[in-house]
Amino acid sequence: MTRKSFEGRDVTVSFDPEVCQHSGNCVRGLAAVFDANRKPWIDPDGASVEEVIAQVGRCPSGALRIEPTETE
Ligand code: SF4
Repeated sequence: MTRKSFEGRDVTVSFDPEVCQHSGNCVRGLAAVFDANRKPWIDPDGASVEEVIAQVGRCPSGALRIEPTETE
């Protein structure tokens, strides 16, 4: 299990590199959130929640997942 979570204010995006097909959809589609040259490479706060949800939905492999960020 290599899934890693990237927590944002409203949503948390997780990524499993063993599942990723490296299609590049995420980086091409929403570079403000998915930037392979940045650390951490996923910034869930880089775009609107709607945009992040839509882009995660375009991941063909299921490597990306999204869930509401848990608040205390
Ligand atoms: S869209 Fe999904 S499968 Fe494609 S590079 Fe991004 S995480 Fe990997």
